Amino acid sequence: MCNLDSILPLVRKPGRYIGDEIGRRGERQFAPADTSVAIAFPDVYEVGMSSLGVRILYHLFRKEGMRVERVFSPWVDMEEKMRKNKIPLFSLESHTPIKDFDLVAFSLQYELNYTNVLCMLDLAGIPLLSEERKEKDPIIVAGGTCVFNPLPILPFFDVFLVGEGEVLVPEMIPVIGDKSLTRSEKIAELSKLSGGLSVKNTGNLQGSVRKVFTAILSPDTIPDPPIVPFIDIVHDRLVVEIARGCTRGCRFCQAGTIYRPYRERDRKTVAEAVRCGLSKTGYGGVTLLSLSLLDHSEIEEIIRDLRGKNISLSLPSLRGDALTDRVARLIGGGSVTLAPEAGTERLRRVINKDINEDEMIASTRRLKLYGFTHAKLYFMIGLPGETDEDIEGIVKLVNTIRKNTSVKVSISPFVPRPHTPFQWERQNDIEELREKINFLKSGIKKVRVSYRDPEGCLLEGVFSRGDERLSKVVERAYGLGARFDEWSELFCFDRWMEAFEKEGIDPAGYLRERSVEKTLPWEIVDTGVRREWLLEERELSRRGDMRRDCRIIGCTGCGIFDCEIKPLKEKSVIQMDYGRRAKMVHLTPVKMRYRIMYSKTGDLRFIGHLDTTRALIRALKRAGLPLVYSQGYKPKPRVAFSPPLTLGFTSRVEYMDVILERLVPDIEVRVKRTLPDGFAINAVEILPPKGASLSSTLLHQRLRVDIPQCGRDPGAPRRDGLIRLINDFMEKEVVEIDGVNVRPAVLELKKRGDGVEILMKLGKAKPIQLFQALFNIIDEEARVLKVERIGWQ
Ligand code: SF4
Repeated sequence: MCNLDSILPLVRKPGRYIGDEIGRRGERQFAPADTSVAIAFPDVYEVGMSSLGVRILYHLFRKEGMRVERVFSPWVDMEEKMRKNKIPLFSLESHTPIKDFDLVAFSLQYELNYTNVLCMLDLAGIPLLSEERKEKDPIIVAGGTCVFNPLPILPFFDVFLVGEGEVLVPEMIPVIGDKSLTRSEKIAELSKLSGGLSVKNTGNLQGSVRKVFTAILSPDTIPDPPIVPFIDIVHDRLVVEIARGCTRGCRFCQAGTIYRPYRERDRKTVAEAVRCGLSKTGYGGVTLLSLSLLDHSEIEEIIRDLRGKNISLSLPSLRGDALTDRVARLIGGGSVTLAPEAGTERLRRVINKDINEDEMIASTRRLKLYGFTHAKLYFMIGLPGETDEDIEGIVKLVNTIRKNTSVKVSISPFVPRPHTPFQWERQNDIEELREKINFLKSGIKKVRVSYRDPEGCLLEGVFSRGDERLSKVVERAYGLGARFDEWSELFCFDRWMEAFEKEGIDPAGYLRERSVEKTLPWEIVDTGVRREWLLEERELSRRGDMRRDCRIIGCTGCGIFDCEIKPLKEKSVIQMDYGRRAKMVHLTPVKMRYRIMYSKTGDLRFIGHLDTTRALIRALKRAGLPLVYSQGYKPKPRVAFSPPLTLGFTSRVEYMDVILERLVPDIEVRVKRTLPDGFAINAVEILPPKGASLSSTLLHQRLRVDIPQCGRDPGAPRRDGLIRLINDFMEKEVVEIDGVNVRPAVLELKKRGDGVEILMKLGKAKPIQLFQALFNIIDEEARVLKVERIGWQ
């Protein structure tokens, strides 16, 4: 188990590395005899924990009784500290070195994460190349969207697993757990599984591996209990997948082919998953997930089931063109996403985007009636067959819609993806895309427009349709320092160009149109969708012909096996009328006001104030307390907290004031059961309904800090000189550190045992600055001091 105490106070967002969340599996102790799996995601915690794939995999392994833990890419500051302190990459749950696991399963969702994979292997002390790994090394497998073209990363993995975890995990477990097999025998067995592929059995053959998928979305595979992160993550709410796959047939969309066939969860299963998930997590909101939510055959009923229960509903894939009047009434609020993708009707036919522009524009005039604040418009540039007129069409369309409603526009360069009807098409180069972006920037007025940068898209295009020669470029770029290439602040295009040049590879060659006569590198993977069907779609696209959703017109023969699709009742495009919405009435019975005193200790000292408040509110919800909510569009529980505790400090005197609908006699017992480790309840009292607030009563905090053992001035902070230091400090009127006079913030300063007790005014100076001034130490030394908040005045 790795000791992180000395480095966590010095890195950004230390909560990324502590684990210990509600809903995770496993104790801090790692028993070497267990067969163990580490689920790895090559990006930071906040991104990885927002991945439904990671959550499903974790649940599936856990359900089968495996020792399963998680690991994410350490941010660059943590990487530097780990290397300096010789700390190997470790798991989140037990802080065990990743090298000690039997299997490391990477979930690969994005090509620009490839250098992070190498960084994680390197930090773990595992050889980057499969052929260099030894018997004691873990088996490194990859799954996820990227493995639909595994060639650019082939040598880094022992096995690729193509398809859905629901099928793959139960088949993998007997192999991983078979103690009679050697490492290479296990790799051979895993690669023989349906969906399995190893470096040794690729042979560049068309259809070497066929995707596997589950025929039904079973309720058993919904992550339960869900993990509740302490820190704010990208999608920090309960996520319930209501459908998988899509049959709309947009010709640029890879998800539309690789996730076929379409499968749904029924209304009852969704309602139960939401009820159970919210009660176990304490989340206040749920995201319903699918590629196209409004195509779910029971979507109106599902939304109706969840309305009016203080649940904040997030519907991310809401296509404005499929929004019926009834659904608009049910979900009104927030934003609507409209994805015309192209600026003209002609180009939309090319890409098979079935949207009536006049109806879409008319609908935006009525968004306000239903409580929508704005529309998000999504467009792509560089699509096959695009002309200047199509780019001008984007400007015209945006400028028309903005007269009706507030809009935000997002522009993404088109990247031809494997296994789509556009997999053979040419990708625009950087100059072409820049020219189009500049045209759009000058043409679109008074609207916030965001663009994906063309350099990142070029790399994505190269690697998504790449071949095995590119693994050398990934390795080279990693050696040159490439990390987190999807993060604009760390992305360095020149570094990648240097890597291509050093490996003698021209990236532009990967953007060219591909011949339909030749086998494509990624056709090593069989998605189940026929090549001939993709070619037919390409032909239709070139003629500007559309092919409608097979759930509406019947099977068009894409070839996916075991498809049991039910016809879709066609829905009318937005037909919003001007009817009045019913007013919400809030009854106000007598409320109870409680003050709860609690402790925050252990690793929780690395959780910031906002994350702490969120974790505690979720604990109150899990305890089933009748919380009182604020009114308005996004109701929030009425809970107030004592002033923020500095990151890295512990405390036994924190407070929260909670308003409940009624008297709850056993509040302490109920909340204790749901608190994450590291929190404890010390006292609960009932307050008068109109008593003073925490912020008006807690003005001075009392801290206890251990005396540091060393500093810039070796004599200064030691115990024998401490009394003199304290006296000197208190006698002065001005004690400056970093241009801040910290002296007025200190009301009392006393030596007590091995430490110093300080009474500080809140908001006048930072405690870390005060310690620097008092003990004559630098910032990094001050941050690792042991400090506890012990009282208030
Ligand atoms: S097999 Fe037919 S019905 Fe099923 S997804 Fe393909 S085209 Fe649609």
